[in-house]
Amino acid sequence: MSSKSLPFTREQLEAISAQVPTPFHLYDEAAIRANARAFYAAFDWVPGGFKNYYAVKALPNPYILDMLKSEGMGGDCSSLAELKLCAAVGITGESIIFTSNDTPAHEYREAAALGAIINLDDISHIPFLEDALGGQLPEILCCRYNPGPLKAGNAIIGKPEEAKYGFTREQLFEGYRLLQQKGVRRFGLHTMVASNELNPEYFVETAQMLFTLAVELHRELGLQLEFINLGGGIGIPYRPEQAPVDLAAVGAQIKAVYEATIVAAGLSPIRLAMECGRMVTGPYGYLVSRVIHKKKTYKNYIGLDACMANLMRPGVYGAYHHISVLGREPGTTPSLVCDVTGSLCENNDKFAVDREIPDPELGDLVVIHDTGAHGHSMGFNYNGKLRSAELLWQGAADASSAPQWRLIRRAETLADHFATLDYPGLAS
Ligand SMILES: *Cc1c(COP(=O)(O)O)cnc(C)c1O
Repeated sequence: MSSKSLPFTREQLEAISAQVPTPFHLYDEAAIRANARAFYAAFDWVPGGFKNYYAVKALPNPYILDMLKSEGMGGDCSSLAELKLCAAVGITGESIIFTSNDTPAHEYREAAALGAIINLDDISHIPFLEDALGGQLPEILCCRYNPGPLKAGNAIIGKPEEAKYGFTREQLFEGYRLLQQKGVRRFGLHTMVASNELNPEYFVETAQMLFTLAVELHRELGLQLEFINLGGGIGIPYRPEQAPVDLAAVGAQIKAVYEATIVAAGLSPIRLAMECGRMVTGPYGYLVSRVIHKKKTYKNYIGLDACMANLMRPGVYGAYHHISVLGREPGTTPSLVCDVTGSLCENNDKFAVDREIPDPELGDLVVIHDTGAHGHSMGFNYNGKLRSAELLWQGAADASSAPQWRLIRRAETLADHFATLDYPGLAS
């Protein structure tokens, strides 16, 4: 059994839970900021600048978005709610990239009204967008490329040719030509072909693919791209034995490819962008829960006060999330092989299956790691389960001062849950 480190102690979590009952998600501000700075440092060489448009769906909380904005990030939005969240924290204009698919006309209108960069998912969206905006396209547009069989897929997003997103290569050339004819003057190029990818080579290959395409677009259409967006998809080490992607090394390798391709073709400067979500906040979120039942039938079960409403990934994808039992270190306490469950009437409501963990006692605090992306945001209300609070851990200024934390979203109440039902006896 290996372990993963925690930025807080059991006593500190007990003190918080005296004020905010478990379960709750806790996000580590200092770690998120340090990681954001390392990410930007890896791309500080980009002529014209680098920007990560944080994929808002990963952790759509305005306090987090505001923090990321102060670290220089923009927002990658795919829905009206995500656009509104960005606007509320002052991420507006070209600090937003609107990368959606199957997009409703009113969302295109909202994105255009905010001055966001619209990233088109399909060639048919060119006339659709033109119609939605009353006949006038924005002066800047981006197209999403799907390389299909030209690029090997990765495990989560699958093969590009099976993915619903983006233009084919032929459509891309045709699409930019059409946009030029329609008077669009500023252009971006985008792809997103990986998810939770830990192999650094993958990102370098993606950059090479897009840089080569940029040169070809210039040669065939005279198109000078203003930016190239390499998408998101940088993975995180969910398992203790995995290593994070070495951002500095990826940045340095992409620099070499940029020089050999973009600079060599005389096309520099082209700004670079990414839209990472998971890597930005994922490892710095923790779902804090408590053991409320221990059961032994054909297997051992540890029942938590959290459930899939708080974290869907294990149930939906069979994803691994590491589990720590506070105050019980692997190796020093007896271990138990068990399923760690929530309370839904769904047998996939399990945070772990046949997992060896330090054998907990009733009432122990349990931390589920790496819930800072696609954790709270993916939750649902099946069985009428309510979604939890979110807290920001701000740590202590020095060893003698008390750690700071703040509530950045309260837990749902039954009144929230019933709010859309106008029925006697259910209101408030
Ligand atoms: C989800 C998504 C991202 C972010 O992916 P991560 O794996 O969180 O980095 C970026 N761009 C688009 C279009 C997405 O759908």
